[in-house]
Amino acid sequence: MLSIIIHGGAWDIPDGDVESHRQGVLNALTIGWKTLIDGGSAVDAVEQAIRSMEDDETFDAGYGSHLNQLGEVELDASIMDGKKIRCGAVAVVHAIKNPITLARKVMDESEHILLVGEGAERFAAEHKIKLCKPDDLINKRERERWEALQGRKDFKTKDSFHKQKRSSDTVGAVAMDKNNNICAGTSTGGTLNKYPGRVGDSPLIGCGTYADNEVGGVSTTGWGEAMIKVVMAKTVIDLMEANGGKPQEAAEKGIEILRRKADGFGGVIVLNNQGQFGISFNTPRMARAYMNSVMNEPFAAI
Ligand code: ASP
Repeated sequence: MLSIIIHGGAWDIPDGDVESHRQGVLNALTIGWKTLIDGGSAVDAVEQAIRSMEDDETFDAGYGSHLNQLGEVELDASIMDGKKIRCGAVAVVHAIKNPITLARKVMDESEHILLVGEGAERFAAEHKIKLCKPDDLINKRERERWEALQGRKDFKTKDSFHKQKRSSDTVGAVAMDKNNNICAGTSTGGTLNKYPGRVGDSPLIGCGTYADNEVGGVSTTGWGEAMIKVVMAKTVIDLMEANGGKPQEAAEKGIEILRRKADGFGGVIVLNNQGQFGISFNTPRMARAYMNSVMNEPFAAI
């Protein structure tokens, strides 16, 4: 069974940004789906789909990501191959246009799972992944957004992200290929005006991303600190294993646990080992799209 599901963040996406989100998740879906149709692996499909959203400035991933308190971009990404539960991740990288590709390199070529900062960039250079200038990742919208925040004390309080439910345009994908292998991946610039060095759920295996061929795959988006507390992605996988493989029920239960235990908000995409989907979010909107071999045409909604 071929199957792929995409997300492009869960938050109060303004009316004026709905169309760019729809286009962005549909483009990623089309690229990932074509990779699967052409015989590519689930890992290829997830990497390619996420790269397209990292390159699309609509999203908080790759180019156009949120800036931290110092006005810098710091990117995080992770990928997991459910065949042998192999995984790779990078965090706090400043000079990488497509961190999902670097995360895949870590998975494929390193004995480690998570590389951060300078070490991750050193690994990229050694493996022929081109470094960019940190400023090449910054667009006008994010520079202006960051400038408007400077001097606003309410953006530096301990609970400012939680109170304001700030935008979160993290991207993710989960796919199943012709061999029924499952892969999940997630990429983000993290939260707006974050403390330098802050790492959220997205690059943490089990929190932002999880895949296991025996059960399915999950990618998350939302307030990362709460997602970490409930080990969101693995929690949803465990719920699905326990409920006999029902992805929608697992997604809903996961979001309920996130809200109840950690007062968290966000969304999850889920794929089970039959190529069926689950989606749940407790934010006003979530950018999402999916397609599988039994559907006639792709589904996308914001
Ligand atoms: N989960 C991400 C983080 O906390 C943010 C997001 O999903 O947009 O870094």
